[in-house]
Formats: sequence, C-alpha cells, structure tokens
Amino acid sequence: MVYDVVIAGAGPAGFGAAMGAARKGKKVLLFDRNSGPGGVASYCGCPVFSGLRSFVPEESGGAAGEFASSMQNNSMIWGDVKLNTSEFSVTLIMTRLLKQAGVDLLFYVELTGVKVENNSITSVTVTGCGKSIEIKGKTFVDCTGDAVLSYMAGAETQTGSADETMTKTLLFRVTGVENYNRELCTKAFEEGNFPFTHQDRFMGTPVGEKGEDFLLNLTAVSGCAQDPAELTRMDMELKEQIPVVLEWAKKTLPGFANCHLVAVAPIIGVRGGRNIVGVETITTKDLQENTPVAEPVAIGKRTYGEHYTKTFVAPWAFWKGGGPREVPYGALRSVNIANLAAGGRGIAIEPKAVSAIRLMPVCIATGQAAGIAAAMDFPEYPALRQELINQKCKFEIKKEQ
Ligand SMILES: Cc1cc2nc3c(=O)[nH]c(=O)nc-3n(C[C@H](O)[C@H](O)[C@H](O)COP(=O)(O)OP(=O)(O)OC[C@H]3O[C@@H](n4cnc5c(N)ncnc54)[C@H](O)[C@@H]3O)c2cc1C
Repeated sequence: MVYDVVIAGAGPAGFGAAMGAARKGKKVLLFDRNSGPGGVASYCGCPVFSGLRSFVPEESGGAAGEFASSMQNNSMIWGDVKLNTSEFSVTLIMTRLLKQAGVDLLFYVELTGVKVENNSITSVTVTGCGKSIEIKGKTFVDCTGDAVLSYMAGAETQTGSADETMTKTLLFRVTGVENYNRELCTKAFEEGNFPFTHQDRFMGTPVGEKGEDFLLNLTAVSGCAQDPAELTRMDMELKEQIPVVLEWAKKTLPGFANCHLVAVAPIIGVRGGRNIVGVETITTKDLQENTPVAEPVAIGKRTYGEHYTKTFVAPWAFWKGGGPREVPYGALRSVNIANLAAGGRGIAIEPKAVSAIRLMPVCIATGQAAGIAAAMDFPEYPALRQELINQKCKFEIKKEQ
C-alpha cells in the first residue's frame, strides 16, 4: 500500500497537516514516537495554546478552530482567551478529530530510515517494539519540530547554535497555590533573587479550573537539542533545577507558600534548533522590515527572540516589532526534495527567529497548509489558496482599506 501523504510527527503541526490532507480525500498516515498526538502540548507539559481563542473558535480558523470548538463542546478548557486545558484532553480530542477525518494513526514508533530516489522520498522506516515497518508514500510532511525527516532525507537544513536558539525547559506543575496574582508574582520575581541567571522574567500560568494548579516555566538550560548526549545532559541539569526553583517559589512568590509538586513534564521542552531550508526562508530582516508576502499560507508574528533575553546574543536579541506577519508558501517547501513539505516550528525560518512562527495555533496552521499542499501534489499558489479558503483557514492579514 502506498499512502498519498505520510506525516512524521503528531504535534500541533502534524495534527493540522493530517486534517488538511485528509479533507482532500487522500489516504493519510500520521506517526509519532509518543503514545498519541499533541507534541509539546501533551508530552512536554504545556497544554496552553497561546492565541487560540477558546470562546470564539471560528476566529482561529481551519483545523485550529475545529480543535478549539471540539475542546469547548467537550468542556475541556478553562479560561477565556488562551486555550488552557490538560495534556490528556489535547491528546484525546486530537485523536478523535483525526479518526473522524479518516487518518491512519501509528504511535510508539521512531523514524529510523528514509529512502530517497531522484530527489524524492519513496518510503520511511519506523521502528517500535523491535519491529521495523517500511511506509511508502507519494508525498511526505515533516512535522517533527526539528526537521528530523528532512535531515535524514538529506534535505538542506539549518541549525542555530546553542546561543542562537531559545533555551530548553522542563515544565513542572504545582498544586495548592492560593489567590494567585500575576502582578505580585512578577514584582516578587524582580525583587526576589531568583537562583538562576538565565531567567529574565516571571513565567507561569494557572492551569486548574480555579487557578489552584500552576504551571511553572522557570527552568532553563542552553545547549544543542539535536544531539541525544546533549539532551541527556540538559535533562539532568533541568531536573536538578526543579527543587531549587520550588523552594524559591515557596519562600518568594505570594500565594505559593503551601504549594507542592504534582507533575514534571516527561520530556524536555525544545523551542527550536533545526529548520528546513525552503524554497523561501524567512529571515530576521523580513520580520524587521515586514517585507510583503506574495503567497501567504498562515499568520505568524513579527516578534522573535523573546524569553531568556539574557542568553540571546546581541544585536538580534529580542526584537519586538509587534504585530502579525504572513508565512509564505515557499517556507513550507524543501528547496531540494521535491515531494517534501514541512509544518510547525521546523519550517524554513532562520533558527534564531523561530519564535515568530512557533506558537501552537500557528503550527497547526502551517501544518494544515503543508498537508493540503502535499495532498494536492504541491500545486501552484492560486489552487492552494482556494483550498485554504475551502477549509476555512485564516491565512491572510486583512489590509486596511
Ligand atoms: C517549554 C515550552 C513552553 C511553551 N509554551 C507555549 C505556550 O504557552 N503556548 C504556545 O502556543 N506554544 C508554546 N510553546 C511552543 C509550542 O509548544 C511548540 O512550538 C509547538 O508545539 C511546536 O509544534 P510542532 O508540531 O511543530 O512540534 P512539536 O510539538 O515539537 O511536535 C513534534 C512531534 O514530532 C515527534 N517526533 C520528533 N522526532 C521524531 C522521530 N524521529 N520519530 C517519531 N516522532 C518524532 C515528537 O514526538 C513530537 O510529537 C512552548 C514550547 C516549549 C518548549
């Protein structure tokens, strides 16, 4: 059997890609090494979809809007602007939507091999439980976050240095926070001798229904996330930071005195590192100058380099241009592998600018556009644009009249 579209990685982008491709009536396979979809949202402990409007799902458009509606209809969200939920709910709802759309799902498998002939991928091999399975496809979409499929296929990729890419984090959750007040916590952080130098501001989010659970986003290390030995080192360092941060929080943050640890993300959270080289690659210059985008497929933002400004290197550290910017079709297509697209945080953008396109709703959107493009065998832009409209995607910034 030959799939029309094979998608590696079932994070927000892989979810979007599979929904987009399946809606074209194609035979689609989505696989991941985790036990279900969700990526960082489900397996790195960050079930907070910034910018995904839970109470106005249609504002998100496309598969992101469908996901938000379904979460809302199943009472699986808290809060009113960002979509704030649990890791399990993300996986459950994404799985249901993918199954309804007719996508074949395969989990617990790691991508271990890629066959390429005449600059096109012909099959991938995945391995799990000691079994190797060859999956043949006509087109492929890389939603692994770190362009793993593209790298293994010999596609051109670009990797930012440890100092150029955002820090890596192990998110953890506490319970028993009383009367959380963001302003007071921010002030306490600024005055409170935080024990590590990497952190430039207070980062945390109430995640329980009444705000009694709290996601602390205060551990960070620098390093290369494209190397297992480095990931192992960073993971061990991050685990050692957690008890130190927890003690500091109890002593310093208002309302945290009686909190205690309930969960630590099972996997290190990686914000970026490796990206494809695309037919068009988004640059920091594009973001700063807001160069017009001729063939938009999703809406990201112009800001990059946010968070951990102390570990970013000048002159490009934290440039806050503000406002949205469209993502071009060319940023989803590999420059040298003909039947390969990318979605999510691994698309063609300078790695140091990745925060312009990495929020989960944007990843769902670029994934969906990549999935549609692959399902249509990489059409000219007008045909893709029409399908993005058919699938109710929000991909163009409304111009002032
Ligand atoms: C600590 C942290 C906090 C964040 N906070 C927020 C937030 O509050 N709001 C927000 O919107 N965004 C947030 N983000 C960003 C956002 O979560 C990610 O940018 C987004 O999830 C990227 O989506 P993706 O689908 O491109 O990649 P990922 O979510 O990374 O998914 C990639 C998937 O590919 C799979 N994969 C990779 N390699 C292989 C392989 N070889 N074989 C099989 N499967 C593979 C992985 O298992 C994973 O499921 C945060 C990120 C981090 C790290």
